[in-house]
Amino acid sequence: MAQFQRPTLCCCRKVLTVPSKSCEGGQGLGQCRLVDIASASNFHCFKLRHFHLDLRLNFAVKEITGWQVLELVAIQPGVQTLVLDTHPSLLIQSIDCKVPGITGAQDISPSLIYRVDPFTDYGSSLNISLPAYVIRPHRAFQITVRYTTTDGPAIWWLDAELTCGQTRPLVFTQGHSVCNRSFFPCFDTPAVKSTYTATVRVPEGVTVLMSASRSAYSKQDRVFQFSMEYPVPAYLVALVAGDLQHVDIGPRSRVWAEPCVLTCAVSKLGGSVERWLNVAEDLFGPYVWGRYDIVFLPPSFPIVAMENPCLTFIISSILESREFLLIDVIHEIAHGWFGNAVTNATWEEMWLSEGLATYAQRRITTEAYGEAFTCLETVFRLDALHRQMRLLGDNNPVSKLQVKFEPGINPSSLMNLFTYEKGFCFVSYLSQLCGNVKRFDSFLRAYIEQFKFSSVVAQDLLDFFLCFFPELKESCVAQREGLEFERWLNACGPPLCEPDLSAGGVLTGPVQRLCDLWASEPPDPEAIANFNLSSWSTFQTVLFLDRLLDRSPLSHEVMGQLSRCYSAQLDEMNAEVRIRWLQIVVRNSFYPDLPRIRGFLHKHTSRMYTVPLYEDLCSGVMKCFAAEVFYQTQARLHPNLRRTLQQILFQTSALSTPTGSVPSLLHPTPSSPSPTPRDQLGPSDPPTTGTIALRDVNVSA
Ligand SMILES: [Zn+2]
Repeated sequence: MAQFQRPTLCCCRKVLTVPSKSCEGGQGLGQCRLVDIASASNFHCFKLRHFHLDLRLNFAVKEITGWQVLELVAIQPGVQTLVLDTHPSLLIQSIDCKVPGITGAQDISPSLIYRVDPFTDYGSSLNISLPAYVIRPHRAFQITVRYTTTDGPAIWWLDAELTCGQTRPLVFTQGHSVCNRSFFPCFDTPAVKSTYTATVRVPEGVTVLMSASRSAYSKQDRVFQFSMEYPVPAYLVALVAGDLQHVDIGPRSRVWAEPCVLTCAVSKLGGSVERWLNVAEDLFGPYVWGRYDIVFLPPSFPIVAMENPCLTFIISSILESREFLLIDVIHEIAHGWFGNAVTNATWEEMWLSEGLATYAQRRITTEAYGEAFTCLETVFRLDALHRQMRLLGDNNPVSKLQVKFEPGINPSSLMNLFTYEKGFCFVSYLSQLCGNVKRFDSFLRAYIEQFKFSSVVAQDLLDFFLCFFPELKESCVAQREGLEFERWLNACGPPLCEPDLSAGGVLTGPVQRLCDLWASEPPDPEAIANFNLSSWSTFQTVLFLDRLLDRSPLSHEVMGQLSRCYSAQLDEMNAEVRIRWLQIVVRNSFYPDLPRIRGFLHKHTSRMYTVPLYEDLCSGVMKCFAAEVFYQTQARLHPNLRRTLQQILFQTSALSTPTGSVPSLLHPTPSSPSPTPRDQLGPSDPPTTGTIALRDVNVSA
C-alpha cells in the first residue's frame, strides 16, 4: 500500500524503511548478503506496489494455470532488466507489459523477451527485458506473466486417500522460506512486502482459502476472490483448497477443516483463541490483520504449523496432544506481531521472527496459564537446545543468531533450535536489562508500532531498544563484558545467559526427582510408585521421557522395569508422549514393546512422528522391522515423505550416526536439512544424507 515504503537493504546490511541516498544507484549492493535470491541484483531498483494472481486449479493433472500481474514502479533510471525468482517446475508461457495511461502503440501490451537462467537447486532466475519507455523513474507499469506450475517445493497435492476424509483431493502451499518462487514468480525475500489479490477457479465442491484479509465466493462461477490489504512478503502468501468446512469460534475467528476433523478441532480450541488474542493485544498492541482463522491440514502437511497471516495452517495430528496444540497455536498467534507485522529482512536473522515470537508466546502463556506452566515448557525446550548443542559442539556456526549464508545454501535448511531458543534467551536478557517485564512489554508495543509492515535487521531492534531506554544506553549495556550484544549475535555456542526458570520448580521438581530415582542403582520400586504419571501434565511427562532418553542406553533390567511401570499407561496417552516412549524402546532395542511401535506407525503418517522413529529404527538393529512396517503403510504416506523414508531405510550407511553430523554453512549442502524446529520440520523432500538425526531435536519450538 502506498503509505508503506518498501524497505531497502543497503550495503551495510542496515534495512532502511525509507530508501536513502546511500542505497540509490546500487552502490555496494553487491556486498549485501542476499545470496538466496536471484533477484538480489535488482529488487531494489523497483518498488512492488501490488500483485494479482488469477489461477485455475486442476486436480486431475495436479496443475495450477493462470497469470500474475505485478504492479511495479521503476525507482532507478537505466535498469533494463527485471529479475524475479522462479523455479524449474514453473513453466512460463508469455510475459506482457502495460503502462497505464500511455496511449497508442505502447498500450497494446507487447510481449516481452525473457530468459530463465539456472540459479540454485531451489530456484532459477527469470530475466525480463523491459522496453525503454517503461523504465522511467517513478512510472508505474504492469508485468503480466502467464504460467503453469505443477508440484514444485511450495505446492503439495494430496490424492483423496491422503486426506483425513479420504473422499476428495486437497492441495496446499507452503512458502517458507524460499519455496513460493515455485508458486508464482516473485522477489522471494522477506525484505520485500506488498499487498496482493487473487482470483481462484476450482471444480465444484472445492473450497479455497488464502492468507488474505478479505474473501468472497461466487457459487455460480465457482470463483473465489481474495484480498490481502496489508503488505506481506512472498513467503506468507498461502493457499489451501479441498473439502473444507468451518465453524465460527469467536468474533474474528473460525476453524476450517475437513468435515471429519471439524468437530474435534472446534471442541479442542473452543473459546480459547479469542482469549489468547485478547491477552496478546493487551501485551503487544492491536492485532493488525483483522481475522485470525485456523485451518487444520491432513498429516501430510510437512511441518507442524505455519503463521500464514489471517489463516494459521496447522497439522491435524497435533489435535490429540492438547498442551502442544495450545502452545503451537499461541506461537502462531504471536507471529501476528513478530514475524508477520515486523519481519526479519534476511533469512540470516530468522531469530528476529522466531526468537521474538517465542518470547511473546511465553508472555501470553504466563498471563493465561501462569508462570509455572510457562517455565516448565521453557525448561523442556531449553533441554532440547542443550541436547542439540551437545550434538553440534560449541563451535558450530549454525549456533549463531546471525548466520552467514554462502551462495547455494537453502535458507530452509537453517531452521534450528538456536533460532528459537537462543533468540528467546537474548530477548529475555533484553527484558531483564530493563528491569521490569511490563516495561519491556511497552517497548515491544512501541517496536511493533514503529516498524509494523516493514522488514528489519537486528540493528534496527537494538538501536530502537537503546533509544527507548536511554539510561541503558548511557550505562553502555550493549558492551557489558561477556554479554555484549555483538557477542549474543555472532558468537557460537549456547546462550550467554538463560532466564530464571525457578518458578517452574513446582512442576519440574517432581520430574527430576523421578529421573533421579530411575538413575539410582538399583531403582527403588516403592519410591517410584509414589509418582503417578497420569496426574502429570503432558509437558512434565515428555520432559521426564526426554531425560530418560538422554540417559539411554539403559540396562535391560531397567528397561524391563520401566516397561512394566509405564508402557501400557503411556500407550493410552497422546502422540507426543508415545513417540518419546517408543524412541526409548528403539534406542534400547527393547523387543517386548515392538508391537506398540508397529501400531503407532500404522496410525501416524505425519513426517513429525514417522521420520524420528524410522531414523532410530534404522540406525539400530531394527531396520528389517522398519522396512516391513514401511511396506505395510507406504500407500498412506505422501510421496515426498515416502522418498525421505526410503532414503532413511536404504541409505543407512550414509545416514547420520547417533551423534549426527554437522551441516555446514560454508559450502552448499542442498541435501542437508537441519535440526528441525516444530513449526519448520524441514523442506518438502529433504534427503537425509549428512543430517542431524531428527530424533535428537524433535522437541523443538
Ligand atoms: Zn515460529
